[in-house]
This record gives sequence, structure tokens and C-alpha cells, in this order.
Amino acid sequence: MGLLIKNGTILTALDEIQGDIYCDGDTIAAVGGDLSDRKKTGDDVIDASGQVVFPGGIDPHTHFELPFMGTVSADDFADGTAAALAGGTTMIIDFAIPAVGGSLLDALSDWHAKAKKCVADFSFHMALTDPSDKVLGEIPLLVKEHGISSFKAFMAYKGAIGVDDEALIHFMQTVSKAGGLLWLHAENGDAILERQTRFIAEGKTGPEWHEPSRPAILEGEAVRRALTLAELYDAPIGFVHMSSRDAYQAYAEARVRGQEAYAETCPQYLVLDDSVYQKPNFESATYVMSPPIRPAGHSDWLWKGLINGLIHTIGTDHCPFRLEGQKTMGKDNFTQIPNGGPGVEHRIELMWHYGVGEGKIDRQRFVALTSTNAAKLYGMYPRKGAIRPGSDADIAILDPTASRTITAKTHHSKCDRSLYEGFELKGAVTHVVAGGRLQLVDGDLKAEQGAGRYIPRSARS
Ligand SMILES: [Zn+2]
Repeated sequence: MGLLIKNGTILTALDEIQGDIYCDGDTIAAVGGDLSDRKKTGDDVIDASGQVVFPGGIDPHTHFELPFMGTVSADDFADGTAAALAGGTTMIIDFAIPAVGGSLLDALSDWHAKAKKCVADFSFHMALTDPSDKVLGEIPLLVKEHGISSFKAFMAYKGAIGVDDEALIHFMQTVSKAGGLLWLHAENGDAILERQTRFIAEGKTGPEWHEPSRPAILEGEAVRRALTLAELYDAPIGFVHMSSRDAYQAYAEARVRGQEAYAETCPQYLVLDDSVYQKPNFESATYVMSPPIRPAGHSDWLWKGLINGLIHTIGTDHCPFRLEGQKTMGKDNFTQIPNGGPGVEHRIELMWHYGVGEGKIDRQRFVALTSTNAAKLYGMYPRKGAIRPGSDADIAILDPTASRTITAKTHHSKCDRSLYEGFELKGAVTHVVAGGRLQLVDGDLKAEQGAGRYIPRSARS
């Protein structure tokens, strides 16, 4: 079966053309001016006049069905990838997180079992929580035999999945030698633990103490320390969910010195500020995530990074917990509130509205940030992140004149709250093609359970 997309403005990370795309099965077969003569009997046709057509989004940071802080994140792989498709994201990379002391290969098979339900394509990063000989020995196997070339370690979460500098050094050396890329959750875990313990003892127990318990200076410190070690051990390094001026400046200085480093940020750090922690009736717990939402002003620096190209990708850190029954586990102690929020569904439209719509980034940078850069960094280009013959038929179509009001009442996530409740956006995703399958038609989701494929990724060259 074929699919013809007609008369769209086709955006890539490099340029844009007016024209058609013809998909044959799960692959893009042709891109060009008028491709009407390619259409065969029975093919679907989408008229994309007045709309923009771009590579399906890649969200490189999700946590579906994650056991965390005594509960499990509210979207499973079917719910989560359906929400992704509804917002124009055709592939996600989730984090397989092994138990401390556990095997990476065991964690990988656990995540594969959970991800069978995916309605969109998927891959995994592997988290490293324990520098045992067994774990260090499995890292090259994951890269060579399992298509997993990206890893992540946590400098925060001391006493749980967090690691110390000695472990970090082992991970940097082993991952780099294996041809992988190590990403970090950079916050100073020791200082955070001291502050959390002291705040609770002082009776500062509400969600409004979450941000002050882990201020931006502690993210900046961790980024600087990790970059120092990465320079010493000559390892490339990446930082996920960069949230603050402190982190950005430490990182940008290293980049200017010529160090090989990468960065991701998330929409919540670009469009929200810490006034969300003043919401009444424990609603503020919706925004308890780590790193926290920062005071106004920090986002300006992250936007600078998107504009100048130092920040490469937009993830969401989608890790939703319902306010009722999950976030309330921390009603009397903010350190017990499960950390995380939803986001996978609105990443593309938020970046279109606040980035392109407000004139901060052009349409090519928008495509690079939401799709192409992730495909390149994570070893999937040009199968993913491109609109060209031979690439996977993963395509999103957005109507720049339509509007979207975000609300938990209508979003596809199972979370009972949205980080962006009531936000009115200009520009709405109307059609989504994933692996050649028409999955969103005029805003109507037709996701097929289990249709998502595992995408193996290549090592760094
Ligand atoms: Zn995360």
C-alpha cells in the first residue's frame, strides 16, 4: 500500500520545498514537486495544502511503566507511544534501568517485554547504576550486539540509583571505549540529600521546598565536575534535561574550549517557571520532578543554547504520576513525592508555538531539535530524522493556522494532570504517518497496538 502526501511545505533540518511525498509500504519512495503519477489504485492521499510536513518527532527521553519511588509511572508503552503519536512524535527512546547489582542484559529483556505494546517505534538507553565487573563487561555487548549505543548515569539520587565520581570514571572509560555515548543526570546528590534531610527536620515539608532543596548551583557544579572528569579521561559526554543557567554556562564554557559534549533540554524548562510551586491544594506536586522547574530567567539561557546550536535535542522526560494516589504519597513530605510529569504528547506543538511562532528559532532548527539531531546523535540517521527516499515513512503534518488548548481532560496520557493545563497554542498536528501507517487523521488517533518496532542503533564512528 502506498500513501501520497500532496502540496505540503516539506521541512527538513536543512531547507524547505513545496511539493509531494510518496511512501511505499514503510519507506519513503520519492520526494519532489508533483508526484501524482506515482499514485496507484487503493493508495491513500493526504492533501497537505497550507500545512507543514516534517520528519516524525523523536523523543529521546521517556520513562514508560517505570517502577520508581514506590510506584510505577502512569503510562505504559501503549499509552505513552499513543500519546506520542497524537502529538507528532513517531519514535521514543526510553531508559532501561537495571536494579542496583543487576545485569544490564536482564534489564534489557525486561524493557523489551514491556515495550511489546508500543504503537510507535522505540529504542532504549541503558542506565548504569553499579560499576561492577559484570556491568562493565556487558557495556560493549550492548553496543555491538544489541543496538544500544547510549547510556546514562545519575549523579543525583544518592543512596538509590545515584553513583559517585569513581563509578562515573569507570563508566566514562568503558562506554567511550565501546563506541557508546554516556549521558548524565547532573545534580550534586550529596548536597541535595543534606538539604532534603534538613528541610524535613525543620518542618519544610511541602512541594514548594522541592526546588530550594536542589538549587541550580548544584546542577552547575555537577556539570562542571563531570566535564572535568570527561576531559581528563578523554570521553565524550552528554547532559540530559538541562534546566538552568548554571548548568548551561558550565557546559558552554567547555564547548568553547573545544570539548566534545552534548546537551538536551525539555519544554518544561523552556516555558514554565518556579511559580508553579505556589499552586494551592497540593496541585504544585504535579511539577515535582528533577531537576526542578527553575526561577524565571533561567529559561532565557536555555533558549540561547537552542538558538546558537549548543543544545542539540528536546526530550520530555515524560514520567507521569497521577496527582490522586501517586503524588499524594508525599503529601506530608515533599521528598516522597514521585518525581516526574507527562509531556511526550505536546513536545512538538510547544516547540512550534514558543520556538517558531515566537520567532526564536527557524523552521529548520525546529526540525533539527525535534527529530534530526536525535537521529544523528543516537545512531539512526538517515533511517530516522530525514525526509528522503529510503528513510522510514515517519512523517508529521502540522497546520500552522489551527489552535490547540492543552488539558488533561482530552490528552491521551493516563495522567490526571498536565504540566501545560489551559495553554493555548497556535499550530496543531493534524496527521501522523508512522512506518507508513496513517495513525493520526485530522486529529483522530488510530493507533495499532504492537505495531511499533525496535530500532537498533549504531555505535559512534
Ligand atoms: Zn529522565
